[in-house]
Amino acid sequence: MEWEAVIGLEIHVQLATRSKVFSGASTRYGAPPNTQACAIDLGLPGVLPVLNEEAVRMAVKFGLAIEAEIARRSVFARKHYFYPDLPKGYQISQYELPIVRHGHVTLHLEDGTAKRVGITRAHLEEDAGKSVHEGFGGLTGIDLNRAGTPLLEIVSEPDLRTPQEAAAYMRKIHTLVRYLGICDGNLQEGNFRCDANVSVRPVGQEAFGTRTEIKNVNSFRFIEKAIAYEIERQIDILEAGGRVVQETRLYDAAKGETRPMRSKEEAEDYRYFPDPDLLPLVLDEAFIEGVRATLPELPDAKRARFMEQYGLSAYEAGILTGERALADYYEQVVEAAGGEAKLAANWVLSELLGALNKEGLDIERCPLPAGHLGGMLRRIQDGTISGKIAKEVFEAMWRGEGDADAVIEAKGLRQITDPEAIGRIVDQVLAQHPQQLEQYRAGKDKLFGFFVGQVMKATRGRANPQQVNEILRRKLQG
Ligand code: ADP
Ligand code: MG
Repeated sequence: MEWEAVIGLEIHVQLATRSKVFSGASTRYGAPPNTQACAIDLGLPGVLPVLNEEAVRMAVKFGLAIEAEIARRSVFARKHYFYPDLPKGYQISQYELPIVRHGHVTLHLEDGTAKRVGITRAHLEEDAGKSVHEGFGGLTGIDLNRAGTPLLEIVSEPDLRTPQEAAAYMRKIHTLVRYLGICDGNLQEGNFRCDANVSVRPVGQEAFGTRTEIKNVNSFRFIEKAIAYEIERQIDILEAGGRVVQETRLYDAAKGETRPMRSKEEAEDYRYFPDPDLLPLVLDEAFIEGVRATLPELPDAKRARFMEQYGLSAYEAGILTGERALADYYEQVVEAAGGEAKLAANWVLSELLGALNKEGLDIERCPLPAGHLGGMLRRIQDGTISGKIAKEVFEAMWRGEGDADAVIEAKGLRQITDPEAIGRIVDQVLAQHPQQLEQYRAGKDKLFGFFVGQVMKATRGRANPQQVNEILRRKLQG
């Protein structure tokens, strides 16, 4: 039998506000344990939560970016569960009336097709603290610094069909929240966490199968692996005549498998009810339009513009617009290079991303200013240096040895384009290799490349390659 997977993701995005969603305590990451949880975050008797307006703006910004409905009235609810890192005994979340509903994003898949994925809802809630299991001699420590940090939970429709689509969707949301500046998107620090709901059904069957939920996968690579494993596991069970149990599972990256964590809670288990400490959140047009005015150019629009304006392929434009900072860098290179868009794309995609990758740096910490790279491309274009020598210039600029002109001067890398000078070197090379010259004249054409190599060697790569070819050909014939 042929099987098809059905996948829906729930992504928890930590909003990059300076203070918490219902208190004034700092959200800064990495402070000593329990130094940033105030009485409100702990839910001590007599305190009242006060909603952080910036968190609301960020949620609305996201909603507008996915062309969703922004609720004019949404309601905070208490979601009860008992866990040591949740001191109040409930989490403030949104349930029946979330702030954002019915949006969508478009995925640009590797095979060149586009796929629209629905977003059911996105709601505001507070994060819990953290349990720390190491260093307490068998006991568990609790760090409540994270308690009360604003989260936006983004719930997709069950529209995804393969692990690759799920990873592409996760990347898309990551790109989007980074563009919007509403989340730092640091997966290691838990800024951006993903739960994957997975089920399988026979191809052609309309009804969904029973799903499992894989909790807290914070890597694009692991989400793909975890889902692929889970699909196989469910198919094996069904083909052996068994039934999939609806449950929550954990992905073990070291073993590459998922395993059961707990049976799935139902909504009733949480005893949701509207939080009496918080008024319904009412937004007017002016507020929403004020947020709309702060939207940047979004990734899809930028990608389309890069293809149109710079003549880039979908692939090139997709990578260059994957991060807003990278897209900005690229445009600065193009500008400094006097509009050499394709050349700039080649250098940014290969040399620059390669160098960043090698040193484990992201574009924000790139040691090479965009203006320097653009300036170097001008020097390729005007014939001052060849593309090959440019790699040497690139490396020197990367090491901080100045801009392209400074490096070219300091290292004497200017290209030799004087035909007489090249002619003299060609004569020398031919005179030094009488034997090869004789073989060439006897019909061993392949030696042409040998002579080119010798001329380039004699000029330390600086001779204009095209001229070397022409002059050499002429002299060999003569
Ligand atoms: P819960 O509140 O229990 O987490 P929801 O109905 O809100 O459940 O769905 C959570 C996620 O699970 C959504 O992303 C949704 O698209 C996805 N989902 C729902 N049913 C299925 C299914 N049968 N197979 C795969 N994913 C599903
Ligand atoms: Mg869920």
